[in-house]
Amino acid sequence: MQLIIVVISIILTGCSMVNYEVDNVTYTAKGKNQRVKFIILHYTACDDKISIDTLTKGNVSSHYLITTHKWDPIFQLVPENERAWHAGISSFQGRSNLNDTSIGIEIVNLGVSETEGGLKLHPFHESQIRKTAYLIKKLSKKYKIEPKNILGHSDISPGRKIDPGPLFPWERLHREFGIGAWYDSIDFNFYYDSAIFGIYSTENIQSEFKRYGYDMEVSGEWSEKDKKILKAFQLHFRPKNISGEIDLETFAMIKALNHKYR
Ligand SMILES: [Zn+2]
Repeated sequence: MQLIIVVISIILTGCSMVNYEVDNVTYTAKGKNQRVKFIILHYTACDDKISIDTLTKGNVSSHYLITTHKWDPIFQLVPENERAWHAGISSFQGRSNLNDTSIGIEIVNLGVSETEGGLKLHPFHESQIRKTAYLIKKLSKKYKIEPKNILGHSDISPGRKIDPGPLFPWERLHREFGIGAWYDSIDFNFYYDSAIFGIYSTENIQSEFKRYGYDMEVSGEWSEKDKKILKAFQLHFRPKNISGEIDLETFAMIKALNHKYR
């Protein structure tokens, strides 16, 4: 009889899990940081309907989606504490796989399309720019994101991606809404000097791009990968002339940026 009682009590104890209290107030740790360090902007390269289908049903996603419809809200597709699959192979500031450490914002825009008259670029709607600015402002305040960590897909995946493309108004976002990184003209004018440019070796210039965050090797020679990075940089800061070559103007821009965001 006693044995039966013991067996029954073992079975009962095994089945009933005690609910312990979790105290998250008494002790808190100092050694921690935010998961979110970057905001990555994209265009979807397709219309609203296909964008919604692709980002909700496929194996790509983003935290936020901004459609072309002025009266649509900003759609959140993935909670901020979860990873969305928007960045793919990517790197910046010595970090790779930026899906782990970023929030992705997809903006519906057709990107670049081929027409009979050549390549056509599609401007963003005013409402999209304002919604993007509002969202970035909110997120960068919440996660204390550095201005230069607000980036395009092209910045973190040079050569592989060109979105959000040459028509994305980075300079306007900075000037009008105080969002993202942009150089000050006083610094640019200082470095826009062929005498200064002349004393910089290829290695020195490569170090400037690496210092800013681009995944550039300091080798002393311009590799194909480096040229893709130069193109990505120009796409962001000088979209009217994307040469993929280093020149005085590109040099002055990277120097002025490093001066401001050191
Ligand atoms: Zn993208």
